[in-house]
Amino acid sequence: MQTCEYIWMNGNLVKWHDAKIHVLSHVVHYGSSVFEGMRAYKSERGPILFRLREHSVRLLNSARIYRMEVGYTAEQIDQAIIDLIDVNKLEECYVRPVVYRGYGALKVDPTDCPVEFSIGVWPWGKYLGEDAIEKGVRVCVSSWRRLAADTMPAMAKAGGNYLSSQLIKLEARRLGFDEGIGLDYHGCVSEGSAENIFIIKDSVLITPPFTASVLPGITRSTVMTIGRDLGYEVREQNIPREYLYIADEVFFTGSAAEISPVAEIDGLKVGEGRRGPITKKLQQAFFDVVQGKSVDKYKWLTYVRERRASCRSKPARFGRFRHGVC
Ligand code: PMP
Repeated sequence: MQTCEYIWMNGNLVKWHDAKIHVLSHVVHYGSSVFEGMRAYKSERGPILFRLREHSVRLLNSARIYRMEVGYTAEQIDQAIIDLIDVNKLEECYVRPVVYRGYGALKVDPTDCPVEFSIGVWPWGKYLGEDAIEKGVRVCVSSWRRLAADTMPAMAKAGGNYLSSQLIKLEARRLGFDEGIGLDYHGCVSEGSAENIFIIKDSVLITPPFTASVLPGITRSTVMTIGRDLGYEVREQNIPREYLYIADEVFFTGSAAEISPVAEIDGLKVGEGRRGPITKKLQQAFFDVVQGKSVDKYKWLTYVRERRASCRSKPARFGRFRHGVC
């Protein structure tokens, strides 16, 4: 991976190679972390963070589900991310805030382990490969089901959930596919290993509901809004597996995957076997908004440099921060 100069750890800026935790930290053994992933896009006005506040809020929600006391507000988390991108002098990057249970008493009960918080930023290309956005990806339906509703909460973006994602991804790669689609416990379509999924049938956009063991994706919500703005009907409904095989278009959404068309599922071409026309329109509208090329009518964009400049002119408000002090 490409490195940067600083990582944010518990309110301090630490050199990239010094950002370490103890091997007996709770998170290493029991998967006890919650995290976020978002992108900052390059623009003429400097890096733009896309839907920063929604990511900070989802992080706090994930932590709440696992009863982790983060100790920072959404506003403070936003500011720490803004500061970190700025001190690392990045024009565009991926952002990874992670809250985890640290080093204390090593047993399943996490009560005696401190809750820690780090943020990393680094330059990152296209998640599913450079061609994915135009040509689409080849996928299979996984033999691994997603988490049942009463096992582990899919609405929390928790480290442990990604063991399921890894099984799906590894199986897909082993069979020669780019990605796998997980079904939910009832056998309906859930999501990719790290993406939500949409199908398009007769110009209607359909995506599985939260009850289908999906992460409430921020790109999913963005696409639902953009889709409606473009005049399409958008529905959240259960999708039987075979609907994938007769859909006109299928695509994945995610902060990393952005909008990635699916060209083939289980050896069957989706539509013409390449990006479909509605997917292309949605991508165009999506990239225009994230790069600040269209009007930001939903206030989704945070201009890092401008926020830093306005921050410098204000007195520090949060004493416990050395960084993230606006
Ligand atoms: N589902 C899973 C399992 C994911 O890991 C992700 C990526 N965060 C998504 C969906 C898409 O969510 P978002 O659009 O908020 O990145």
